[in-house]
Amino acid sequence: MTPWMRPPYFEIRELALSGRIRIRWGDWMGRTPAPVPSGVALADKVEGMMLGLAIGDALGNTTESINPAVRRERFGWVEDYLPNRHAGGRRVGLPSDDTQLAFRTLEHLIEGKGHYLDPQALGNRLAHGRIFGIGQATRQWLARFTQGGHWMTSGTPSAGNGALMRIAPVLIPHLASPNCDLWVDTLMAAHLTHDDELSNVSCLALVDALWRAIATEGTVAQGWWLERWLEVCDALGTGVCYQARNGRPKDFDGTISQLLREHVSRALERRLPVDDAGELWHSGAYLLETVPTVLYILERFGNDPREAILQAVNQTRDNDTIAAIVGAAVGALHGASALPSPWIEGLSGRLGAKDDHRVFHLLERAGQTFGYGSTPAVRARASLYRKAAEAGAGPTDIPPDLLRGELWVKVVGFLQQNWAVVRSSGAGEQVRVWFVDDRFDVFDFIDYGAAASSRKALRINGFEPYRAKTHGWLNSPIPAGVGVGRTRQLDWAPRRIYSSGQYWVQPDDL
Ligand SMILES: [Mg+2]
Repeated sequence: MTPWMRPPYFEIRELALSGRIRIRWGDWMGRTPAPVPSGVALADKVEGMMLGLAIGDALGNTTESINPAVRRERFGWVEDYLPNRHAGGRRVGLPSDDTQLAFRTLEHLIEGKGHYLDPQALGNRLAHGRIFGIGQATRQWLARFTQGGHWMTSGTPSAGNGALMRIAPVLIPHLASPNCDLWVDTLMAAHLTHDDELSNVSCLALVDALWRAIATEGTVAQGWWLERWLEVCDALGTGVCYQARNGRPKDFDGTISQLLREHVSRALERRLPVDDAGELWHSGAYLLETVPTVLYILERFGNDPREAILQAVNQTRDNDTIAAIVGAAVGALHGASALPSPWIEGLSGRLGAKDDHRVFHLLERAGQTFGYGSTPAVRARASLYRKAAEAGAGPTDIPPDLLRGELWVKVVGFLQQNWAVVRSSGAGEQVRVWFVDDRFDVFDFIDYGAAASSRKALRINGFEPYRAKTHGWLNSPIPAGVGVGRTRQLDWAPRRIYSSGQYWVQPDDL
């Protein structure tokens, strides 16, 4: 059993054709995305997309879900991070669910080493750890999924924006050699939490737009965001109708394409302020509201990243998610270098409660893993994360000489192994089995009452004791590191690959 399993293309196609994944499957899904021109500064673009997302979320989440007029009265025009009680009252950008789930997705893709998105493992990754400000549909998904749910059947039937807000990173592994698996990855990642056609189609339209934004240099013409979005909706929608909530637009019952053509185009002609346009269709977490608002802002202000993000933060109701999506879009188009530097500097980079600079560390790792590199600004912040981890601020204490322990190995794929180290832990016969990947990263552990039972479990699960003589053919840096190096504690977050039980058989089970 390998820990990474991507359902093949034809399997997803069958699920879509039989209606179990809601979308109209057609030629569109077989298209190869146009390669990104070689002159594009990919690191700047990808970092712009992901930092734009995190910045939009952080600027918005302190004044989330209130009427724009009420927000203005209470906070004025928000242009910077507000003093935050989770950071001792400092003005610092902290994450909510949008940033957390997008970066957990990125982390999953890095763990897969660029080969494939595994929707079940992605679910495990998303489900692991506290989520700040979790939405209703995602919460319902979480309850089903963590009780042993399958990725295909755990999603909530909801047209909320919870899948759209975290979908951006799925394109990153595909930048080097694009093919139609990009659309399948997007669809699986979307369907995982939200079993809904509008959600699936919106996620594909956004990923398509982000891809083209990354490939484009400079500004874009009027209609650039909206027209292509409509094409995607026309190609992938089955015509199923959605009703307006909150009575806006009044008595609306139709497709997203109809809403965009009838209402957004007209509002653009009238050049309505964003909050007035939002009054026409509302600007909440329902996709029939989020999508027109995002597109309206991008059409009006998409060539000015700062203004676009500020419009989203100040002029909409579900402002953290709308600003996260707008931020990802303008960041992808203009690059991180075009985002206001005080916003990047003021971003904590946290994904949890204490892990400052972590998003920069993940961006650096993504650039290494997928071969486009990283910018000096991201590397500088990533090194702060590493320093803090090395100084012992990390939440765990991996023994520095871990690799001197009893080493086991399992071949999980071509030129890819998982390593396990059995170490006594604390008093008595207790042992801890540490799992280490090819790059010295500890990714999981499981405790056993005695060494004998840990060894039995390792054998049952396909590990064997490492012997230099017989395993000399393995292509891995680990043997060279035994006894000389130390494992990296830099990136510690228990990822529950094996300890989740999903890929691990306990001896008692047999
Ligand atoms: Mg949020």
